[in-house]
Amino acid sequence: MGQLNPSFEGETVIITGAASGIGREIALQFGDAGAITIVADIDEEPKDGDVPTHEQIRQNGGESEFVRTDVTDVDQLEAVVEAAREYGGVDVMINNAGIIVPGSIRDIDPEAFDTVHAVNVRGTFFGTQAAANDMIDRGEPGAVINTASISSNLAQYDQVQYDSSKGAVRMITRGAALELAEYDIRVNAVAPGQIATEMTEGWSAEAEEKAAKDELIKPVPLGRAGTPEDVAPAYLYLASEGAGYVTGEMLQVDGGWQVF
Ligand code: NAD
Repeated sequence: MGQLNPSFEGETVIITGAASGIGREIALQFGDAGAITIVADIDEEPKDGDVPTHEQIRQNGGESEFVRTDVTDVDQLEAVVEAAREYGGVDVMINNAGIIVPGSIRDIDPEAFDTVHAVNVRGTFFGTQAAANDMIDRGEPGAVINTASISSNLAQYDQVQYDSSKGAVRMITRGAALELAEYDIRVNAVAPGQIATEMTEGWSAEAEEKAAKDELIKPVPLGRAGTPEDVAPAYLYLASEGAGYVTGEMLQVDGGWQVF
C-alpha cells in the first residue's frame, strides 16, 4: 500500500499532552516530517520512563522544545503560543491533553467533575482560542486539531464525565470551525477508539467488569486495540495541505468500533 507522507518543513506545531501516549507519538511523527515541535505538558518525563519527547525528537534529527504547560491555565496556554513566535508563530495547534476519571453519575463529586472538564474541555477551548487569535493577529492561516474520542458519540458505563467532556470537544471543534473559516483556520478533531496507553491501563481492569454490561464491548471489527502509531497519522493528514478543504470534521480512528 502507498504512503501518505506530508512535509511540515519549517512549520511550528504545538502538541499538548505530548510527554506520553498518543501526544508523544504525534510529536515524534511531526518531528520526522520536519516540523519544529513544541511539547506542552505538565510533565517533562514520559509515564513509561522513556527519553523525554523533545529530546527524542532532537536525537532523531528534529528541532523540538519542551514548554511546561498546564492546559487548565489560560495564561499558560497563551504563553506556549507566545513561545512559538520565536519560530515564526504557531502553524498547527494540537489540543490533545486529556484525563479520564471513571465513576457513576450517582456519586461523582463536583470536584472530580470539574477536574476532568478543566483539562478536557477548558484546555481544548482555550487552547483553540489562544492559537486562533495568534494566527489571526499575524494574518496567517493555520490548523487546529483536537483529540476527541469514541466517547464523543457513544456512552459507556462509568464514563459519564469523560463522555460529556469529549462530547463537548466535538462541538468546540464544529463551532470553532464555523467561526474561524473566514480566517483560513481549519479546525478538526481525531476520535481514537481503544488505544493502548498509560491512560487505558489505569482504568481498564475495573472498567472491564462493568463493560460486561456494555453494548460497546463487542469486538472491534479490525480485531485489535489500536496503538498511538495507528492514530498519529490522522493528525498529520488533517494538518496537511491535502486536507485543505476539510474543516469541522471528527475523524474516527477506532478500528471500526463506531459502526456498532
Ligand atoms: P496518556 O495519559 O498516556 O497521556 C496524556 C498526557 O496528557 C500526559 O503526558 C499527561 O501528562 C498530559 N496531561 C494531563 N493533564 C494535563 C494538563 N492539565 N496539562 C497538560 N498536559 C496534561 O493518555 P493518552 O491515552 O495518550 O490520551 C491522549 C488523549 O487521547 C486524551 O485527550 C485522551 O482523552 C484521548 N483518547 C485516548 C484514548 C485511549 O484509548 N488511550 C481513546 C480516545 C481518546
